[in-house]
Amino acid sequence: MSTLSRRRFLSTAGAAVVGLPLLSKSEGYAQPVSDASTGTRPVRVVSSANGQEATRTAYEMITAGRDPLDAVIAGVNIVEDDPEDTSVGLGGLPNEDGVVELDAAVMHGPTHRAGAVASLQNIRNPSKVAKLVMEQTDHVLLVGEGALRFARAHGFTEEDLLTAKARGIWLYWKQTLSERDDWLTPPDSVLDADVAEFFNRPTGTIHCAGINSAGDMSCVTTTSGLSFKIPGRVGDSPIIGAGLYVDNAIGSCGSTGRGEANLQNLCSFAAVELMRNGMSPKDAGIEILRRVVAHTTEKRLLRDDGSPNFGLKFYLLAKDGRYAGVSMWGPARYSVTDEQGTRHEDCAVLYER
Ligand code: ASP
Repeated sequence: MSTLSRRRFLSTAGAAVVGLPLLSKSEGYAQPVSDASTGTRPVRVVSSANGQEATRTAYEMITAGRDPLDAVIAGVNIVEDDPEDTSVGLGGLPNEDGVVELDAAVMHGPTHRAGAVASLQNIRNPSKVAKLVMEQTDHVLLVGEGALRFARAHGFTEEDLLTAKARGIWLYWKQTLSERDDWLTPPDSVLDADVAEFFNRPTGTIHCAGINSAGDMSCVTTTSGLSFKIPGRVGDSPIIGAGLYVDNAIGSCGSTGRGEANLQNLCSFAAVELMRNGMSPKDAGIEILRRVVAHTTEKRLLRDDGSPNFGLKFYLLAKDGRYAGVSMWGPARYSVTDEQGTRHEDCAVLYER
């Protein structure tokens, strides 16, 4: 795999991206596409790397005839329910006040309808609430207290989503944040390795997209967002066109990583538009990452060599079944399930660590 330096990126930024060398590849897996003569299409589900169980479950549901949106939501519910995954739902890392605030969005290809919630507290499955916003309101996005009241009205059970593990991580962040407050740094002896690992404010999310044999597509993105965020901060995940987007005639795209960079470039919508204009999922995703790099000029977001100091990934699925994961930084992987089984594949990357 090659590393694309910022210098090289800038020198090629104006050039057509189609035909650029493969930056990384997924070895060994064919990408069967739709067969025009028989009308058959490959059933396929893709997600972020933390979604292997999600893609497996969604694939089984789609092949059993379930709507792809129901299938991908059931898939990500597994991760939302998992207290060990600190990026989503129950056990997600909290905001700076120690409160878990969740964002999620769903989009249904055949109807082009979408629903989303942001800054939702106390409900472990925001993706289910997002689907109800889509189905049972005339709105697309509900936030905060309004989203919570809507969930309550639909019988969702409220619970404290802050697990002991997530609280420990948050507490350590708070205790070590500043020398100008009254929180004392705990002695190393009480520092759990699990906690130390999270000191660098990790991000995390699950995006999952699926297509059935009729070529109908849907997708979902759900997250606890940026850890220790300012309360009320909303990332890219629940914003249609940023955290996810599907056009049933073209394809879908969803994201994980630095939400602010995605919001400033409306990346998922833009990637689907590039696919509409003929780009492959991989080329479209890489081109969008290049745009993000070109628009990243603030010094605080750049490394010494000029490359971005943050991560951003996209998961793309085309109407004909082609798919890709792309990442600002590699090595990186994503999850796929189709007739070849469930596995991780390598993302195409812009920069290699
Ligand atoms: N994109 C999410 C956000 O900015 C976080 C992540 O994917 O890690 O809220």
